[in-house]
Amino acid sequence: MAKKQFKAESKRLLDMMINSIYTHKEIFLREIISNSSDALDKLCYKSLTEEGVGVSRDDLFIKITIDKENRVIKVSDNGIGMTEEELEKNLGVIAQSGSLHFKNDMEKKEEIDIIGQFGVGFYSAFMVSEKVTVVTKAYGSEQAYVWESDGSDGYTIKETVKDGVGTDIYMKIKADSEEEKYSDYLETYMLRGLIKKYSDYIRYPIKMDIEKSRKVEKPDSEAPEYEKYIEEETINSMVPIWLLGKDKVTEEELNRFYKEKYFDSSDPALVIRADVEGSFSYKALLFIPSSTPMGYYTNEYKKGLELYSSGVMIMDSCEDIIPEHFRFVKGVVDSQDLSLNISREMLQHDRQLKAICTNIEKKIKQELKKLLTNDPENYEKFWKSFGLQLKYGMVSDYGAHRELLRDLLLYYSSRDKKMLTLERYIETMPEDQKYIYYACGDTISKIDNLPQTEQIKDKGYSILYMTDEVDEFVVSIIGEIDGKQFKSVNDKDLGIESEEEKSDTDDKQEENKVMLDYLRDALDGKVTAVRLSHKLKSHPVCLSTDGEVSLEMEKYFATIPGDHPEIKAQRVLEINPTHKAFYMLCDTWQLDKDRCAKLGKLLYDQALLIADMPLEDPSEYTNLFWELII
Ligand code: ADP
Repeated sequence: MAKKQFKAESKRLLDMMINSIYTHKEIFLREIISNSSDALDKLCYKSLTEEGVGVSRDDLFIKITIDKENRVIKVSDNGIGMTEEELEKNLGVIAQSGSLHFKNDMEKKEEIDIIGQFGVGFYSAFMVSEKVTVVTKAYGSEQAYVWESDGSDGYTIKETVKDGVGTDIYMKIKADSEEEKYSDYLETYMLRGLIKKYSDYIRYPIKMDIEKSRKVEKPDSEAPEYEKYIEEETINSMVPIWLLGKDKVTEEELNRFYKEKYFDSSDPALVIRADVEGSFSYKALLFIPSSTPMGYYTNEYKKGLELYSSGVMIMDSCEDIIPEHFRFVKGVVDSQDLSLNISREMLQHDRQLKAICTNIEKKIKQELKKLLTNDPENYEKFWKSFGLQLKYGMVSDYGAHRELLRDLLLYYSSRDKKMLTLERYIETMPEDQKYIYYACGDTISKIDNLPQTEQIKDKGYSILYMTDEVDEFVVSIIGEIDGKQFKSVNDKDLGIESEEEKSDTDDKQEENKVMLDYLRDALDGKVTAVRLSHKLKSHPVCLSTDGEVSLEMEKYFATIPGDHPEIKAQRVLEINPTHKAFYMLCDTWQLDKDRCAKLGKLLYDQALLIADMPLEDPSEYTNLFWELII
């Protein structure tokens, strides 16, 4: 029978595996055992949910045998096995999950990252083996098959004979080389150590034949003799790590569990454990990654926790158990109250599951709050990765989660020059400050240069700088906190002028009404008003808005593709009545109205530049500028 070739991606990974400089070759055993455990899970689940499977959970096991003479490690399981098609599909193609996309000119360093980051599973066997043989019989099938490959030169699948369902993996261990003493893997103590290190919590017994010796009693005069014998031993302690008490697991073990299971090369930012007893009970072990996973803010990212019922896996990714705003959380939930026989559709309506979900939500919130209070530096790191998610959470479902999420928000404060919670902002407000001021823009430094922030800063008030498109929606969802309303620096009345100052400007406004209206008309629909400003100090102009839609919202809606009514802000050109530009306008108005209109246009363009918005006609602007300064 002709050899079949691996798919291109598989081939590349295999090359990498075989020639790997990866220092953790030993993980191959963990990967093979973990596959066996999954296969046992599948059969166990079947036996619990279908009639007549005839398997009891207690019958299921993994057995590891060493044949030193032939340099073979055999890993057997009596799990669900594979059909011929499954063998082809599962072991002929890697990265079913689609997570492996290789660069063509990958450096060795990157190889390490890739192997470290992704669960390369079955193929890791080739890091230590020159040949791998898989003998398998699927549950419900009479025929067994053997798959064989040396990793580099394709693979074969043939019919074979095998007692009982399950899978045997034979790994023919490579000859020792100068760099690596592969023979070590043929030592019982070595494999035992690897099982303890990586697979201790596997919930099925991992058995090995262990050579032991016992004393043979001799007549009194003679010294006792020892004889060797073989005994089968279960090596792993079998308790899933999430069911172990807090004092039974070290932080390092939890971190390792996370990194191996979720293919992350860094420790999690936060480990959350829940152990709830009562009208419903569950245990959970949850993790928050320390950085944003690849593709997190895209549709490709799938949220979900693993769901177990008393140690039996029901679902490998249950979406309904974790709210959308905490979708970055990974982990395991185990509840004896959940029925095994439940389908995905039924789970959506399951009351127990809903109760657990609400409880988990509360727990995550609590832990994040704790981190925020006790370790602000690390909270800020978390915020950088997932803050945007929390903001989305604020505005989703018409603001239904605002109470839960509000005190987890952080914003950059202009006065403190660091991130603050809203609560802290309010606590540190000067007594005479009436509003929570905020300003939006692309970057902190651009916002910091906005002319309309000047007066507020001068008063000693802090402004919250917001750089995400969703921020203004968050602000409108929050509405007010402790009776304090938000106020955009673009608002026409910032509430900081004295009545006297206000009426002064209002008088000036009235005096110059004809000119200001003329300028508005000359701007030909670009602005709804030209007004004298209450808030400018050293700058001549700024752009603000009337009505509900802000400039930031306008920018945001402009980026959303599709057919929606154009959402436009009502722009207002504000002119500083104490600036020489205003005096110049007034003088020109007396002499040459046409020239005054041109000055108005120039000022409007400058307001656009200051607001970090594109000029409609940069060459007209340049020409106007030169025409007017001469
Ligand atoms: P992963 O486990 O991440 O899916 P692997 O490369 O480790 O990737 O395995 C590919 C697939 O081969 C598994 O998903 C499973 O369907 C199948 N498989 C591997 N080992 C076994 C086994 N011992 N018993 C049954 N199926 C197996």
